[in-house]
Amino acid sequence: MKILITGGAGYIGSHTIIEILENTNWEVIAVDNYSNSSEKTYRRIEKITGKKINYYNIDLTNLSLTEKVFYENKDIIGIIHFAAFKSVPESVEKPLLYYHNNLNSLINILKCQAKYNIPNLIFSSSCSVYGNLDELPVTENTPLNTPESPYAYTKQIGEKIVDDFIKINPTLKAISLRYFNPVGAHKSGLNGEVPIARPNNLVPYITQTAIGKLEQLTVFGGDYATNDGTCIRDYVHVCDIAAAHVQALQKLISDKNFPKHSIINLGTGVGVSVLEAIHAFEKVSNQKLNYFIGNRRDGDVAAIYANNDLAKKMLGWTPKYDIDEMMNSAWLWEQNLNKKQ
Ligand code: UDP
Repeated sequence: MKILITGGAGYIGSHTIIEILENTNWEVIAVDNYSNSSEKTYRRIEKITGKKINYYNIDLTNLSLTEKVFYENKDIIGIIHFAAFKSVPESVEKPLLYYHNNLNSLINILKCQAKYNIPNLIFSSSCSVYGNLDELPVTENTPLNTPESPYAYTKQIGEKIVDDFIKINPTLKAISLRYFNPVGAHKSGLNGEVPIARPNNLVPYITQTAIGKLEQLTVFGGDYATNDGTCIRDYVHVCDIAAAHVQALQKLISDKNFPKHSIINLGTGVGVSVLEAIHAFEKVSNQKLNYFIGNRRDGDVAAIYANNDLAKKMLGWTPKYDIDEMMNSAWLWEQNLNKKQ
């Protein structure tokens, strides 16, 4: 059974491939154009799993190139569509790039899904679809607010496109997974996030500061109405996210009564403040981090964390890792990455 993974050389895509190769007998076909990743990721996957994967260097906004993958692999039974641009600030700077890339690639994937009658699709969505919230924890029934960035809007529209498309195709099913804050790395320390530019996200910023690539971490705001004044997020281990994709696809494949299109939160349900995250890092790395409390960052919400009951009920998914393990694996990966350079 072949599974097509788009964005296979990316952060979540690569961890999902590892999870598949380690726990199923599925064959992986990966697609990426390395716009925010590198072909080297596949060497790391092969080192961890001892297995070879087939992969293509393709821009999914090109329909004829995309179709080639389906034409050459007629027995694909599921698609996990990760490939997308994902930087919130960049999307504000370059909205057309984000709308073009994230929506056209999705539309091309769906055209091929229908043409080649691939029964199952998992779509990468994001908790950013909720916009600013009043009520926590957030459930899937929470009405969606205006998205805060073009990136978030591509995910809102993406979910709607999937929904409209699946509705009119009787043989096709999909699950959209709304990720909260995926962090951490594979427990081997051999695969993790590789921020190409200066990172925007908290955990790579922490590990790069600790290793000395960056001088100091700024905590964006210490005057929020939270327990310690810093923002609260739902950090979830990337390997838990990867496992959820495998469980979701297994459900679609094996459970004939599974709904046509489900939308499911992937978070731990635990809110962690920026200072708590920093302290967890300091504990597991046994070193003090150079940080200071600075100004708020535009566009940040004070707090967001998931209600994950639906993922537990529908997918049988329970996240295994806590913030200490997320930090520990991210730190191991940062140290390994630095050794090689
Ligand atoms: N954050 C921070 N300093 C940084 C990067 C992030 O204080 O250098 C905070 C940010 O304000 C937010 C949290 O860490 O409250 C998570 O930010 P991230 O960009 O990782 O994810 P987001 O939730 O914004 O998607």
